[in-house]
Amino acid sequence: PSSALMTTTTAASRGSVAVTAAATSSVEALREGIAEFYNETSGLWEEIWGDHMHHGFYDPDSSVQLSDSGHREAQIRMIEESLRFAGVTEEEKKIKRVVDVGCGIGGSSRYIASKFGAECIGITLSPVQAKRANDLATAQSLSHKVSFQVADALEQPFEDGIFDLVWSMESGEHMPDKAKFVKELVRVAAPGGRIIIVTWCHRNLSQGEEALQPWEQNLLDRICKTFYLPAWCSTSDYVDLLQSLSLQDIKCADWSENVAPFWPAVIRTALTWKGLVSLLRSGM
Ligand code: SAH
Repeated sequence: PSSALMTTTTAASRGSVAVTAAATSSVEALREGIAEFYNETSGLWEEIWGDHMHHGFYDPDSSVQLSDSGHREAQIRMIEESLRFAGVTEEEKKIKRVVDVGCGIGGSSRYIASKFGAECIGITLSPVQAKRANDLATAQSLSHKVSFQVADALEQPFEDGIFDLVWSMESGEHMPDKAKFVKELVRVAAPGGRIIIVTWCHRNLSQGEEALQPWEQNLLDRICKTFYLPAWCSTSDYVDLLQSLSLQDIKCADWSENVAPFWPAVIRTALTWKGLVSLLRSGM
């Protein structure tokens, strides 16, 4: 399979992919924390932002003040830009089976299923998300094409080599073992298939640099606590992993500038009356 990797870089934490995995108990606690986090917050996110739980994609120098619907369009653009970057275009009839790894409430799966007429299976750690994703598929008459289940991306309940497109939209940052994560993505990809990973990464370290700066590490530690994230890695760590698995046509890009305008919008909506009420209701 070939692979495209789009990353969003933030000042960052030291996370080496070569060094695998925290102790089993902390991995288990992380898994439960992620499931609970999404069980509790997905409804509130959906109320404000709709189907997609990922960044919007913007032109880097766009200074236009966007409406909420403009930001939702930017989220769709993120999907389109990812497909385009990976060379998966509309004429691409080869995409018949897709796995959506870390599917949220299934926004990407439903979009891709509709676009390509493909069959999509989504997996998430959150039972609330899986149920909501299936309900939305039924409501949109897509349940013959897409389905969702609770499963771990690190131990996917699928046979080897069955998906033409392996899609991971902003879920990789939750994975405590990046090597295992990538290995599973590759395992389930069909021969000639494509893997798209859009994920949060820290900056690449400079030559001779052993770790991030302490201030960067501190900032990342705070982000990790808020969003149930384990240690981060860099884009080049991912590329090393993909190369070690003999993938072809590995491409990567840093989309930090393209996603930056999304955060002020998220913060603004959280400060509206509706946002505050939803936050209180969700117990945050
Ligand atoms: N891709 C979706 C959701 C992104 S939010 C979208 O773009 O809308 C991150 C998702 O990753 C959540 O659904 C969360 O449950 C899932 N996730 C995190 N760790 C996971 C794991 N180990 N196995 C499966 N899903 C995981």
